[in-house]
Amino acid sequence: MKLGFIGLGVMGAPMAAHLVAAGHDVGGYDVHPAAGEKLQAVGGRAASGVADAVAGADVVITMLPNHPQVEAVVLAAGGVLDTAEPGTLLIDMSTIRPETSIAVAEAARDKKVRVLDAPVSGGQTGAEQASLSIMVGGDEADFAAAKPVLDALGKTIVHVGPHGAGQVVKAANQLVVGGIYGLVAEAIVLLEASGVDAATGLDVLAGGLAGSRILELKRQSMVDRRFAPGFRIDLHHKDMGIALAAARQADVALPLTGLVAQLVAAGRAMGYGSLDHSALLKVVEQLSGR
Ligand code: NAD
Repeated sequence: MKLGFIGLGVMGAPMAAHLVAAGHDVGGYDVHPAAGEKLQAVGGRAASGVADAVAGADVVITMLPNHPQVEAVVLAAGGVLDTAEPGTLLIDMSTIRPETSIAVAEAARDKKVRVLDAPVSGGQTGAEQASLSIMVGGDEADFAAAKPVLDALGKTIVHVGPHGAGQVVKAANQLVVGGIYGLVAEAIVLLEASGVDAATGLDVLAGGLAGSRILELKRQSMVDRRFAPGFRIDLHHKDMGIALAAARQADVALPLTGLVAQLVAAGRAMGYGSLDHSALLKVVEQLSGR
């Protein structure tokens, strides 16, 4: 299949490479030209711009930081909707607010372009190992058409509802992830302040009911204070904002999510925005004067 891939960052670069390895003809574009060159080195094609990536593509994938970039790439003059042939399938895999996904789907309908929102969970490792969880919003028939392409990127690939539903599921994912990081950070602070070895304590937690993927994968790096991203606090701050806005839209109260959002905001304010979100530990430590 001929694919266009726009946004070749931490996530997009390994994802585009997997699509090349799966036998697709991939034209990739990123505002940083070095990213296109890296794609070329693994057998893809460096496109000169959005229109070049989209030209002749059956499927266009976007993996961009946030909604302003998706609006610029997809909706603006010369963007994906302006240049794609009718019938093209656009799969936006960025994490953005659900209402932008719905607005993109409405704008695409006029151009006869098919759209799915398909944000992912699993982080950089999931992208590199093609083991992402992918939550897809949109029409069932378009999901069926996208599935063979998405199979090259992930292991758990689920159609969760209409346009925007993928983003709502991702918002739910992010509030759970943020909450678990916050509580693991509090557990480490309590253990260390009580003179108990934190690594040993967390080993026990990981084997019991408190066990989670985060405890499994990140407890040692947190105890060692290794906070290279991974997933930056800045991006998690964006996602907590999306979750709270979705809660307002749905007219529900999510008090713990509000609290976690403030911890993440504090991390940014303390200058940790470019560290991994496990650096919430530094915030919790500072709250205890440690
Ligand atoms: P990133 O910043 O590393 O990559 C985004 C890329 O988009 C960058 O290379 C940037 O140059 C490019 N870009 C920005 N504007 C552009 C434009 N107008 N045209 C072309 N390219 C443009 O971010 P990332 O970590 O790859 O995350 C991408 C999305 O995936 C975000 O929405 C993020 O929340 C989500 N996500 C990230 C992770 C993670 O662990 N990093 C995990 C799950 C989901």
